[in-house]
Amino acid sequence: MTVVNFGSEDYPSANGTMRAIMLICRSIPQIRDAVATLRASGGSVGLVTTMGALHAGHMSLVSHARADHDHVVATIFVNPTQFGNPDDLLTYPKTEDSDLAMLRDAGASAVYLPDASEIYPDGAETIVETTRLANMLHGLVRPGHFRGVATVVCKLFNIIGADAAYFGEKDYQQLQVIRRMVADLFMPITIHGVPTVREPDGLAMSSRNVRLTPQDRAAAVCLNKALTRAQEAARNGATVEAMRDLIAETINAEPRARLRAIDIAEALTLAPVTGHPAGDIGIMISAEFGPDENPVLLIDQREIRK
Ligand code: AMP
Repeated sequence: MTVVNFGSEDYPSANGTMRAIMLICRSIPQIRDAVATLRASGGSVGLVTTMGALHAGHMSLVSHARADHDHVVATIFVNPTQFGNPDDLLTYPKTEDSDLAMLRDAGASAVYLPDASEIYPDGAETIVETTRLANMLHGLVRPGHFRGVATVVCKLFNIIGADAAYFGEKDYQQLQVIRRMVADLFMPITIHGVPTVREPDGLAMSSRNVRLTPQDRAAAVCLNKALTRAQEAARNGATVEAMRDLIAETINAEPRARLRAIDIAEALTLAPVTGHPAGDIGIMISAEFGPDENPVLLIDQREIRK
Protein backbone atom coordinates (compact mmCIF):
# COMPACT_ATOMS: atom_id res chain seq x y z
CA MET A 1 0.00 0.00 0.00
CA THR A 2 1.25 3.50 -0.80
CA VAL A 3 1.47 5.49 2.40
CA VAL A 4 0.26 9.06 2.08
CA ASN A 5 1.84 10.88 4.96
CA PHE A 6 0.23 14.13 6.04
CA GLY A 7 2.27 14.48 9.21
CA SER A 8 1.24 11.19 10.75
CA GLU A 9 4.68 10.62 12.28
CA ASP A 10 4.52 13.75 14.40
CA TYR A 11 2.25 12.42 17.11
CA PRO A 12 3.65 10.20 19.88
CA SER A 13 1.32 7.44 20.92
CA ALA A 14 -0.52 7.94 24.24
CA ASN A 15 1.11 4.85 25.78
CA GLY A 16 4.46 5.56 24.16
CA THR A 17 4.68 2.20 22.45
CA MET A 18 2.72 1.89 19.20
CA ARG A 19 3.95 3.71 16.12
CA ALA A 20 1.09 2.81 13.77
CA ILE A 21 0.61 5.05 10.76
CA MET A 22 -2.44 7.28 10.88
CA LEU A 23 -3.04 9.80 8.13
CA ILE A 24 -3.73 13.28 9.45
CA CYS A 25 -5.64 15.28 6.88
CA ARG A 26 -6.56 18.95 7.10
CA SER A 27 -8.16 19.50 3.71
CA ILE A 28 -10.74 17.81 1.47
CA PRO A 29 -8.17 16.75 -1.18
CA GLN A 30 -5.98 15.19 1.53
CA ILE A 31 -8.76 13.14 3.15
CA ARG A 32 -10.14 12.09 -0.25
CA ASP A 33 -6.65 10.92 -1.29
CA ALA A 34 -6.27 9.10 2.02
CA VAL A 35 -9.63 7.30 1.67
CA ALA A 36 -8.84 6.41 -1.96
CA THR A 37 -5.52 4.94 -0.80
CA LEU A 38 -7.22 2.91 1.93
CA ARG A 39 -9.81 1.66 -0.54
CA ALA A 40 -7.17 0.82 -3.17
CA SER A 41 -6.36 -2.35 -1.24
CA GLY A 42 -10.05 -3.29 -1.31
CA GLY A 43 -10.78 -2.30 2.28
CA SER A 44 -14.10 -1.07 3.66
CA VAL A 45 -14.31 2.17 5.63
CA GLY A 46 -16.22 2.94 8.84
CA LEU A 47 -16.63 6.58 9.86
CA VAL A 48 -16.78 8.16 13.33
CA THR A 49 -17.64 11.87 13.42
CA THR A 50 -16.70 13.80 16.55
CA MET A 51 -16.11 17.28 17.90
CA GLY A 52 -12.90 16.18 19.63
CA ALA A 53 -12.12 16.20 23.37
CA LEU A 54 -12.28 12.44 22.96
CA HIS A 55 -13.17 10.04 25.76
CA ALA A 56 -14.04 6.37 26.13
CA GLY A 57 -17.50 6.96 24.62
CA HIS A 58 -15.98 8.12 21.34
CA MET A 59 -13.46 5.29 21.45
CA SER A 60 -16.29 2.78 21.76
CA LEU A 61 -17.59 4.07 18.40
CA VAL A 62 -14.09 3.59 16.96
CA SER A 63 -13.85 0.03 18.25
CA HIS A 64 -17.30 -0.86 16.85
CA ALA A 65 -16.22 0.58 13.49
CA ARG A 66 -12.91 -1.34 13.69
CA ALA A 67 -14.75 -4.58 14.38
CA ASP A 68 -16.88 -4.18 11.24
CA HIS A 69 -14.44 -2.57 8.78
CA ASP A 70 -10.89 -2.75 7.47
CA HIS A 71 -10.35 0.94 8.13
CA VAL A 72 -11.72 3.59 10.45
CA VAL A 73 -11.76 7.24 9.48
CA ALA A 74 -12.52 9.77 12.23
CA THR A 75 -13.35 13.44 11.95
CA ILE A 76 -12.70 16.14 14.52
CA PHE A 77 -14.65 19.31 13.86
CA VAL A 78 -16.33 21.63 16.35
CA ASN A 79 -19.28 22.51 14.14
CA PRO A 80 -20.29 26.15 14.70
CA THR A 81 -23.74 25.80 13.13
CA GLN A 82 -25.00 23.41 15.80
CA PHE A 83 -24.24 25.75 18.71
CA GLY A 84 -26.97 28.20 19.73
CA ASN A 85 -24.91 29.80 22.49
CA PRO A 86 -21.67 31.48 21.30
CA ASP A 87 -20.06 31.01 24.76
CA ASP A 88 -20.70 27.28 24.59
CA LEU A 89 -18.86 27.19 21.24
CA LEU A 90 -15.97 29.29 22.56
CA THR A 91 -15.56 27.22 25.71
CA TYR A 92 -15.89 23.83 23.97
CA PRO A 93 -12.81 21.85 25.09
CA LYS A 94 -10.00 21.34 22.56
CA THR A 95 -7.44 18.56 23.13
CA GLU A 96 -6.11 17.85 19.65
CA ASP A 97 -2.80 16.16 20.51
CA SER A 98 -4.31 13.68 22.93
CA ASP A 99 -7.26 13.09 20.56
CA LEU A 100 -4.85 12.13 17.77
CA ALA A 101 -2.84 9.87 20.04
CA MET A 102 -6.03 8.12 21.25
CA LEU A 103 -7.29 7.62 17.71
CA ARG A 104 -4.00 6.22 16.55
CA ASP A 105 -3.75 3.85 19.51
CA ALA A 106 -7.29 2.69 18.75
CA GLY A 107 -6.24 1.81 15.21
CA ALA A 108 -7.85 4.61 13.19
CA SER A 109 -6.38 4.80 9.68
CA ALA A 110 -7.06 8.47 8.96
CA VAL A 111 -8.37 11.59 10.66
CA TYR A 112 -9.89 14.64 9.00
CA LEU A 113 -9.61 17.93 10.92
CA PRO A 114 -11.06 20.67 8.72
CA ASP A 115 -11.22 24.39 9.30
CA ALA A 116 -14.69 25.92 9.51
CA SER A 117 -13.83 27.92 6.37
CA GLU A 118 -13.49 24.68 4.38
CA ILE A 119 -16.81 23.25 5.57
CA TYR A 120 -18.65 26.58 5.29
CA PRO A 121 -16.86 28.57 2.57
CA ASP A 122 -18.08 32.04 1.59
CA GLY A 123 -21.28 31.71 -0.39
CA ALA A 124 -22.34 28.35 1.11
CA GLU A 125 -26.10 28.41 1.60
CA THR A 126 -27.38 24.82 1.45
CA ILE A 127 -28.79 23.35 4.64
CA VAL A 128 -30.13 19.90 5.44
CA GLU A 129 -33.05 19.67 7.80
CA THR A 130 -35.22 16.81 8.92
CA THR A 131 -38.20 19.11 9.23
CA ARG A 132 -40.18 17.20 11.89
CA LEU A 133 -37.51 15.40 13.90
CA ALA A 134 -35.26 18.47 14.15
CA ASN A 135 -37.96 20.73 15.49
CA MET A 136 -39.40 18.72 18.33
CA LEU A 137 -38.30 17.68 21.83
CA HIS A 138 -34.63 18.64 22.39
CA GLY A 139 -34.77 20.62 19.13
CA LEU A 140 -37.17 23.05 20.83
CA VAL A 141 -34.67 23.64 23.65
CA ARG A 142 -31.88 24.24 21.10
CA PRO A 143 -33.44 25.79 17.97
CA GLY A 144 -31.36 25.15 14.84
CA HIS A 145 -29.18 22.54 16.57
CA PHE A 146 -30.28 19.49 14.59
CA ARG A 147 -30.28 21.43 11.32
CA GLY A 148 -26.61 22.23 12.02
CA VAL A 149 -25.92 18.58 12.86
CA ALA A 150 -27.66 17.19 9.75
CA THR A 151 -25.93 19.75 7.51
CA VAL A 152 -22.43 19.02 8.77
CA VAL A 153 -22.93 15.25 8.86
CA CYS A 154 -24.21 15.33 5.25
CA LYS A 155 -21.13 17.32 4.21
CA LEU A 156 -18.79 14.91 6.05
CA PHE A 157 -20.52 11.88 4.48
CA ASN A 158 -20.08 13.45 1.03
CA ILE A 159 -16.43 14.30 1.65
CA ILE A 160 -15.43 10.90 3.01
CA GLY A 161 -17.67 8.40 1.27
CA ALA A 162 -17.56 5.76 4.02
CA ASP A 163 -19.49 2.48 3.92
CA ALA A 164 -20.94 2.95 7.41
CA ALA A 165 -20.99 5.55 10.19
CA TYR A 166 -21.23 5.06 13.95
CA PHE A 167 -23.20 7.35 16.28
CA GLY A 168 -23.77 7.21 20.03
CA GLU A 169 -27.20 6.34 21.38
CA LYS A 170 -26.50 8.95 24.05
CA ASP A 171 -27.48 11.60 21.50
CA TYR A 172 -30.67 9.67 20.85
CA GLN A 173 -32.59 12.29 18.88
CA GLN A 174 -29.46 13.05 16.83
CA LEU A 175 -29.20 9.37 15.91
CA GLN A 176 -32.81 9.35 14.69
CA VAL A 177 -32.22 12.58 12.73
CA ILE A 178 -29.23 11.01 10.96
CA ARG A 179 -31.11 7.78 10.22
CA ARG A 180 -34.01 9.80 8.75
CA MET A 181 -31.69 12.00 6.66
CA VAL A 182 -29.88 8.97 5.22
CA ALA A 183 -33.16 7.25 4.37
CA ASP A 184 -34.81 10.35 2.90
CA LEU A 185 -31.82 11.33 0.76
CA PHE A 186 -30.96 7.75 -0.30
CA MET A 187 -27.42 8.15 1.02
CA PRO A 188 -25.35 5.00 0.37
CA ILE A 189 -24.15 4.57 3.95
CA THR A 190 -25.23 2.32 6.84
CA ILE A 191 -25.87 3.96 10.22
CA HIS A 192 -25.08 2.11 13.46
CA GLY A 193 -26.13 3.19 16.96
CA VAL A 194 -23.66 2.42 19.77
CA PRO A 195 -24.70 2.10 23.46
CA THR A 196 -23.81 4.93 25.87
CA VAL A 197 -20.51 4.54 27.73
CA ARG A 198 -20.67 5.68 31.36
CA GLU A 199 -18.36 6.66 34.18
CA PRO A 200 -18.21 4.11 37.03
CA ASP A 201 -20.87 6.08 38.95
CA GLY A 202 -23.23 6.01 35.95
CA LEU A 203 -22.74 9.53 34.54
CA ALA A 204 -22.78 9.35 30.72
CA MET A 205 -19.35 10.29 29.38
CA SER A 206 -19.40 13.66 27.66
CA SER A 207 -16.78 16.15 26.53
CA ARG A 208 -18.73 18.72 28.57
CA ASN A 209 -18.22 16.87 31.87
CA VAL A 210 -14.81 18.53 32.33
CA ARG A 211 -16.58 21.87 32.70
CA LEU A 212 -18.49 20.70 35.79
CA THR A 213 -17.27 21.79 39.24
CA PRO A 214 -16.56 18.81 41.53
CA GLN A 215 -19.89 19.47 43.30
CA ASP A 216 -21.83 19.61 40.04
CA ARG A 217 -19.96 16.55 38.76
CA ALA A 218 -21.17 14.62 41.82
CA ALA A 219 -24.71 15.99 41.43
CA ALA A 220 -24.86 15.07 37.72
CA VAL A 221 -25.34 11.37 38.51
CA CYS A 222 -29.00 12.27 39.12
CA LEU A 223 -29.67 11.97 35.35
CA ASN A 224 -28.69 8.31 35.20
CA LYS A 225 -30.36 7.66 38.54
CA ALA A 226 -33.62 9.13 37.21
CA LEU A 227 -33.45 7.02 34.03
CA THR A 228 -32.69 3.84 35.98
CA ARG A 229 -35.69 4.45 38.24
CA ALA A 230 -37.91 5.08 35.20
CA GLN A 231 -36.66 1.91 33.54
CA GLU A 232 -37.42 -0.14 36.65
CA ALA A 233 -40.86 1.46 36.86
CA ALA A 234 -41.48 0.60 33.19
CA ARG A 235 -40.60 -3.03 33.90
CA ASN A 236 -43.19 -2.97 36.68
CA GLY A 237 -45.86 -1.69 34.31
CA ALA A 238 -45.71 2.08 34.98
CA THR A 239 -47.37 4.47 32.56
CA VAL A 240 -45.42 7.08 30.59
CA GLU A 241 -46.90 9.76 32.85
CA ALA A 242 -45.72 7.95 35.99
CA MET A 243 -42.22 7.56 34.50
CA ARG A 244 -42.16 11.27 33.74
CA ASP A 245 -43.14 12.13 37.34
CA LEU A 246 -40.48 9.81 38.73
CA ILE A 247 -37.77 11.40 36.59
CA ALA A 248 -38.86 14.94 37.55
CA GLU A 249 -38.95 14.00 41.24
CA THR A 250 -35.45 12.45 41.09
CA ILE A 251 -33.82 15.38 39.29
CA ASN A 252 -35.68 18.04 41.28
CA ALA A 253 -34.43 16.38 44.47
CA GLU A 254 -30.91 17.43 43.43
CA PRO A 255 -30.63 21.17 44.24
CA ARG A 256 -27.67 21.73 41.89
CA ALA A 257 -29.56 20.41 38.83
CA ARG A 258 -31.99 22.49 36.77
CA LEU A 259 -34.29 20.14 34.88
CA ARG A 260 -34.68 21.22 31.26
CA ALA A 261 -36.58 18.46 29.50
CA ILE A 262 -38.12 15.03 29.92
CA ASP A 263 -39.13 13.59 26.58
CA ILE A 264 -40.63 10.14 26.31
CA ALA A 265 -41.42 9.11 22.76
CA GLU A 266 -41.81 6.19 20.40
CA ALA A 267 -38.38 4.80 19.48
CA LEU A 268 -37.08 5.84 16.00
CA THR A 269 -40.02 8.09 15.00
CA LEU A 270 -40.06 9.98 18.33
CA ALA A 271 -43.86 10.20 17.97
CA PRO A 272 -45.74 11.02 21.20
CA VAL A 273 -46.67 8.18 23.53
CA THR A 274 -49.06 8.05 26.48
CA GLY A 275 -50.25 5.48 28.97
CA HIS A 276 -48.85 2.00 28.37
CA PRO A 277 -46.99 2.16 25.04
CA ALA A 278 -47.33 -0.84 22.76
CA GLY A 279 -43.79 -0.71 21.34
CA ASP A 280 -40.24 0.40 22.17
CA ILE A 281 -39.79 3.85 23.65
CA GLY A 282 -36.92 6.31 24.01
CA ILE A 283 -36.54 8.50 27.09
CA MET A 284 -34.45 11.64 26.61
CA ILE A 285 -33.70 14.00 29.46
CA SER A 286 -31.59 17.11 29.96
CA ALA A 287 -30.54 19.24 32.91
CA GLU A 288 -28.29 22.24 33.42
CA PHE A 289 -25.61 22.74 36.01
CA GLY A 290 -23.46 25.71 36.99
CA PRO A 291 -23.94 29.43 36.35
CA ASP A 292 -27.13 30.64 34.64
CA GLU A 293 -25.16 32.79 32.20
CA ASN A 294 -23.02 29.88 30.90
CA PRO A 295 -24.52 26.63 32.16
CA VAL A 296 -23.35 23.12 31.34
CA LEU A 297 -26.22 21.32 29.61
CA LEU A 298 -26.05 17.55 30.07
CA ILE A 299 -28.25 15.05 28.28
CA ASP A 300 -28.90 11.38 28.83
CA GLN A 301 -31.11 8.73 27.35
CA ARG A 302 -32.54 5.27 27.77
CA GLU A 303 -34.24 3.09 25.20
CA ILE A 304 -36.77 0.71 26.70
CA ARG A 305 -37.50 -2.27 24.52
CA LYS A 306 -40.73 -4.26 24.81
P1 AMP B 1 -19.49 14.62 20.03
O1 AMP B 1 -18.00 14.71 19.94
O2 AMP B 1 -20.06 14.98 21.35
O3 AMP B 1 -20.19 15.29 18.87
O4 AMP B 1 -19.84 13.08 19.88
C1 AMP B 1 -19.39 12.36 18.76
C2 AMP B 1 -20.06 11.02 18.74
O5 AMP B 1 -19.74 10.31 19.95
C3 AMP B 1 -21.59 11.11 18.69
O6 AMP B 1 -22.08 10.09 17.83
C4 AMP B 1 -21.98 10.86 20.11
O7 AMP B 1 -23.29 10.34 20.26
C5 AMP B 1 -20.94 9.86 20.55
N1 AMP B 1 -20.79 9.83 22.00
C6 AMP B 1 -20.57 10.89 22.82
N2 AMP B 1 -20.55 10.50 24.10
C7 AMP B 1 -20.77 9.16 24.10
C8 AMP B 1 -20.87 8.16 25.13
N3 AMP B 1 -20.75 8.47 26.42
N4 AMP B 1 -21.08 6.87 24.74
C9 AMP B 1 -21.21 6.55 23.43
N5 AMP B 1 -21.12 7.44 22.42
C10 AMP B 1 -20.91 8.73 22.75
